[in-house]
Amino acid sequence: MARARDQGGGRRRYAYLHAMGIPVWVPRGETASASATPAGVEAAPAPQADEPAAAADGVAALDWPALERAVASCEACAELVANRSRTVFGVGDRAADWMIIGEAPGVEEDRQGEPFVGRAGWLLNAMLQAVGLARERVFIANILKCRPPKNRDPRPEEAAACEPFLERQITLVGPRVILAVGRVAAQNLLKTDAGLGRLRGRVHRYGPLGTPLVVTYHPAYLLRSPLDKRKAWEDLCLARRIVQGDGA
Ligand code: SF4
Repeated sequence: MARARDQGGGRRRYAYLHAMGIPVWVPRGETASASATPAGVEAAPAPQADEPAAAADGVAALDWPALERAVASCEACAELVANRSRTVFGVGDRAADWMIIGEAPGVEEDRQGEPFVGRAGWLLNAMLQAVGLARERVFIANILKCRPPKNRDPRPEEAAACEPFLERQITLVGPRVILAVGRVAAQNLLKTDAGLGRLRGRVHRYGPLGTPLVVTYHPAYLLRSPLDKRKAWEDLCLARRIVQGDGA
């Protein structure tokens, strides 16, 4: 059971912990208001015959502005380019300790140009707040920068084409931990077909620097399966221990 320590921002924190499904010990005389929804929360929200070209040569040498331009002008995946409204580069602190990596933009992300917005985005924010992190303090990106039609899974060739962009983002951010959010992100980052249940609960390593990587559920899944919020909380606590220096 978590205890809400900050009495000043207590109500918001209670709400975040409640959203995570974490029981909160409420000191006598305080009111949890755990069912409150923070203000401003939004209401519930075949590749072409030719294979995607490599996203770009020389991506590994790009700085942030050049990388943004390269993503915005990328047309490597013909089917995705034909269906996207815009590319979704990623957002957040470019020197963050935490990097959150999801699957691909959905309809709302494609519309707004930002990953993890709408209901799933709100739950992700709540998950982060539950471990004391504001959304602005992490960097959030996806395996794909373009929305797959009808939110289908990314195809392997699309993930491969987009991989240099994500690799460069990870290198530039230099996070102390990567949180792989959902099965698709975890399998692509770890190059495995193992299920999420087997990948959770331990520390993996990513890339040549061996960046610690923790796998957790996608918030869209947690909205459908709230009983698993408890496990997601455990995953976040594991990631937090890594950042604090005693989890990896
Ligand atoms: Fe380019 Fe990535 Fe979009 Fe494919 S998904 S078109 S590689 S930016």
